Amino acid sequence: MRIPDLCLIEGCLRVAAHNGDHDLRPVEAWDFFGAADLNKINKAGYATPRGGDKGAYQNHVYRNNKVIVPFEHLDYVDLTQYADGYVVRLFPDQYFESPGVVRQRFAETGSPVVGRDAFVLYRSHASLEAFPPLADWEVRWLSRDGRPVARRGNRAVDSGEYVLRLSNAGATRPKRYEGPPQGIFAPEYAPAQTNYECQAMLSWLIVHARSSPYTTSQALHLKAILDHSGLLGDRLERAGVTRNGLSICPLCLRVIDYEELHKSVDFSQVDGLLNAALQVEGATRSTKVNLFHLEPLVYEALNHRPTSVAWGHATCNTLLGQRHCYSLAELQEAGRKIGFLDEDDELVTFGWISEDFKMIRSPHGAVWVQLSDDMSADEQAASFDATQDRPLAPPAAEEHEQ
Ligand SMILES: [Zn+2]
Ligand SMILES: [Zn+2]
Repeated sequence: MRIPDLCLIEGCLRVAAHNGDHDLRPVEAWDFFGAADLNKINKAGYATPRGGDKGAYQNHVYRNNKVIVPFEHLDYVDLTQYADGYVVRLFPDQYFESPGVVRQRFAETGSPVVGRDAFVLYRSHASLEAFPPLADWEVRWLSRDGRPVARRGNRAVDSGEYVLRLSNAGATRPKRYEGPPQGIFAPEYAPAQTNYECQAMLSWLIVHARSSPYTTSQALHLKAILDHSGLLGDRLERAGVTRNGLSICPLCLRVIDYEELHKSVDFSQVDGLLNAALQVEGATRSTKVNLFHLEPLVYEALNHRPTSVAWGHATCNTLLGQRHCYSLAELQEAGRKIGFLDEDDELVTFGWISEDFKMIRSPHGAVWVQLSDDMSADEQAASFDATQDRPLAPPAAEEHEQ
C-alpha cells in the first residue's frame, strides 16, 4: 500500500490536497479507532493527577498547560522549557521568616514574585496561623478580558497571592479550599506538538499490539506522520518498544496483547507486589497495560517524548519505578558483560549491566533491576557503629527513637 503524501504547508500534517483547514496536529490519523482506544489515546495526552487536590494541581487537562514548579526544585529546572507558562509554588515557611516578615532572598532580583510568577500554598490551619497572608493579599482567582471566570483555559489570567487547601481540623477549623488549581505537575509537561507526536506513536503501537482489531492499511496516514517525524525505522526495535513489528512491554519484553490495554489489573494477584506501599495511587482501577515511559518523568528534563513512550504492563511500570528502562540493544552496545565464576573458576557470562548498575538483561529476556543503592561511606560507618553499640537492637526500634 502506498503511503500518502502529507500536505506540509506551514507544517500541516494532513494528507496532501485535503479539504478544509490546515492542521499541525490532525487527530484524524487515528480516527479509525474504536471508542475505548480513542479514550486511551486521549488520556495519554493528559497530565495525570499527582498528589491530588491538596497540591493545587490541575487534572484532566492536556500536558501543554501551565505547570507548578515547587520552589525547592527551582534551582535545577529550566523554566524556558515550559512554553505554556509556569508558576512557582511556595510553602508559607519557605516564603516567611517569621509572621509577616518575608525572607531576604525574595528581595533579590530574579527571585520569584508572589502574585506575579509565584503563589503561597497553605495546606494546614497551623501554617495559616503561623504565617498568615500579608494584609493586602487575596486568594488566587482567574479572569478573562477583565471578567472573573471559574475555570482556567485560553487566555485566563491569574491574580492573587495564595491558595488554601486546608483539611478539616475540628469544629472550629473546617475544611477550606479556596483558589483554583494552579497548574499541572511539571514533570508531566509536554509542548502541544510533542504531546501530539506521543499520541501518534502510541496509536501506532496500539495498531501493532497482538490481535489488535486494526490493520496497517488503516494506519497509512499515521505512518506518514511518524515517518515524517523520523519516529519509525529500526528505532522501535532497538528501544525495545516493538519486536518483529509487534508492540512489547519495554521492561519484560513480552508481547502486548490488545485486550490487555483495556482489561483491569488486580495488583493483589501479582507476585512481588504484595507490599501495599509499592502500589501506585489509583492502581486498583488501572488497566493491565498502560502508558510507559522509558525515561522517568523528572523536573530536570521533559521526558514525555515520542522516543520515550510505549505501552507497558502496569506491574512492570511499578517495578521499574523512577529508573531508566535500558533496552537490550543499549546494554549490549555499552558492552558491560556480566557473569560469575563457576566451580572451576571459569567465568560464565549471562547478560549485560548498565553503566549505572541499575539494570541487567540477559539475551533471552530476563531482567534484573537494582532495588537500592550502595550505601555511602558515612552510611556504612554509621550502620556499622550502630550494630557494634547495640547488637540486639532491631532496626525498627532505632527508627522510633528519633
Ligand atoms: Zn494542509
Ligand atoms: Zn512487562
